[in-house]
Amino acid sequence: MGNIMTNRLDRGFERYQEEFESAALKALRSGWYILGKELENFEKNYAAFTGSRFCAGCGNGLDALTLACRAIGITKGDEVIVQGNTFIASAMGISAAGGTPVFVEPDEYYQLDPSQIEPHITEKTKAVMVVHLYGQTAKAEEIKAICDKHGLKMIEDCAQSHGAYAGKKMSGTVGDIGCFSFYPSKNLGCFGDGGAIVTDNEEYAAHIRQLRNYGSSVRYHNEELGVNSRLDEIQAALLNVRLSHLKELNEERKAAAAVYNAGITNPKIIKPACKEGADHVYHQYVIRCSERDALAEHLKQKGVDTIIHYPIPPHLSKAYSFLGLKEGSLPKTEEYANTVLSIPMYNGITKEEQQTVIEAINEF
Ligand SMILES: *Cc1c(COP(=O)(O)O)cnc(C)c1O
Repeated sequence: MGNIMTNRLDRGFERYQEEFESAALKALRSGWYILGKELENFEKNYAAFTGSRFCAGCGNGLDALTLACRAIGITKGDEVIVQGNTFIASAMGISAAGGTPVFVEPDEYYQLDPSQIEPHITEKTKAVMVVHLYGQTAKAEEIKAICDKHGLKMIEDCAQSHGAYAGKKMSGTVGDIGCFSFYPSKNLGCFGDGGAIVTDNEEYAAHIRQLRNYGSSVRYHNEELGVNSRLDEIQAALLNVRLSHLKELNEERKAAAAVYNAGITNPKIIKPACKEGADHVYHQYVIRCSERDALAEHLKQKGVDTIIHYPIPPHLSKAYSFLGLKEGSLPKTEEYANTVLSIPMYNGITKEEQQTVIEAINEF
């Protein structure tokens, strides 16, 4: 028997296999594969699910972030404040639009710390990007109020928080525009690449629909330099199926997290804290340990795979070396990068698998 893996996409597929297969077959047999009825349906369904007026599909999460930054007007020289401990795509979305990410420290819940925003606002600051990291919602309403006070736009990177509530509203709908990835491992995943934005702003939605299709709203009339980034009909059809089960899938992740919360008792381990009023859909179950690498090795020997989200924070990556940020410039972000460890968390994880993980952790 192999190790317990950090993710099992096969289990998510098998549970609704018949529904997925008939949806894909229907899309295949329709004779229409790009920008058709399935996408229109999904956009309508996802807007309704999130409580937004508009949804626009696109090719992937990075494109959703890039197009959102372009739609709110980020351009060369503009600064966007974002937390340092995020997946590098958050920052690359800002950069791809021409902007510059300004990395700030997270709070103890791994989310953007609202108190870090005002000290980093300059004349060039145009927006704040909130990432609901690991599936826990950030203090989005508090951050929105800070943005409003300073005339800044707010973008939400919800690639890990599908269906999670940030207060009364769903993540992605507190700020000006919410960005989603449907990469297969996400809480709402498709079977290839996919992404979308949600917004209440009609202009942003129309602009993104134009940008994703070569800058054209009317065929062969190109208004601006756009990209090719569309959510195809087969993926949209499969997402319609998954979306219809998202609530129960998130509930199942929460229940699995509760099993870990109760079972993991090793004092060397810092379990994920959930702040009051926040929702957590456990895209990842992330623990922290000062002896992280030894723990990972121990777990591997005991048949448990783990993964680090993320070992190199964007500001220390080669890609962002041009910013000139040295080691030590974001101590908290760097400490997290050196101590976090994601343990197996996926839909369909069994009690027995979780028990093996818990015992191995408590033994360390
Ligand atoms: C997955 C992810 C993205 C990028 O999504 P892709 O579809 O892979 O481009 C962006 N931000 C965060 C926080 C993510 O987890």
